[in-house]
Amino acid sequence: MTVRRKLVAGNWKMVASRGPLDELKAVNDAAGRLDVDVALCPPFPLIGPARDAAPQLEVGGQDCHHLAQGPHTGSTSPALLRDFGAAYVIVGHSERRALGETDAQVSAKAAAAVCAGLIPIICVGESAEERRQGDAAALISHQVCASLPAAVMPDRMVIAYEPIWAIGSGRTPNSLEIAEMHSAIRASLLRSYGPSAAEMRILYGGSVSPHNAGWISAIEGVDGLLVGACSLNAVDFVPIIEAAAAVGQPVPAAA
Ligand code: PEP
Repeated sequence: MTVRRKLVAGNWKMVASRGPLDELKAVNDAAGRLDVDVALCPPFPLIGPARDAAPQLEVGGQDCHHLAQGPHTGSTSPALLRDFGAAYVIVGHSERRALGETDAQVSAKAAAAVCAGLIPIICVGESAEERRQGDAAALISHQVCASLPAAVMPDRMVIAYEPIWAIGSGRTPNSLEIAEMHSAIRASLLRSYGPSAAEMRILYGGSVSPHNAGWISAIEGVDGLLVGACSLNAVDFVPIIEAAAAVGQPVPAAA
């Protein structure tokens, strides 16, 4: 039976020192003793040090180029990320979409990541204004279709539903809203990829903390968490990982 194992991924964003590496011993211990996948996406220079400090975690990048190599100053090749031991790469984070990244570019990056042997964590999410206007579920379903490469096996990709208004704000949707969005995303994936889309993990991200990680992880259709600020220190991140692991066995990947 195919199952979806929970994944907790940390996004260190543009942290400006190597200080958080000191937090990784406790995070590594938690990942080693708990039945949950844990990944950490630090800035590129910290990928090697993070992997060395926490061998029980997977590491990942926060973005990549859609080409394997070339004259693209400042960009990172997915192949180089893989070479440095990365297993994942975040693509289409709303902080990059805000700089002008389009669904088509996100899709191309995701395809390049898979080609290089990485698992892209493809971010989607609506703004506060888009939610106020009504059909956030339809909007996100459309964004999912436009941001995912077609000719890629769904089990090689992860989606992160991150309402933009929840990121870094201390606010989250309620459990019904999260369940509705995850269910809409799953339906959209099944329409695009067929039954194999049941294997794809859909994470929730946006102001996840030790206080809400338990109830969010327990929502049907939530296969894990993408965590920003609270992934920077063990005192927050370890209880989040524990909360995701405590929800129980991996769920059968039934449509
Ligand atoms: C993020 O940036 O992906 C994120 C979820 O941030 P935070 O947890 O800080 O809201």
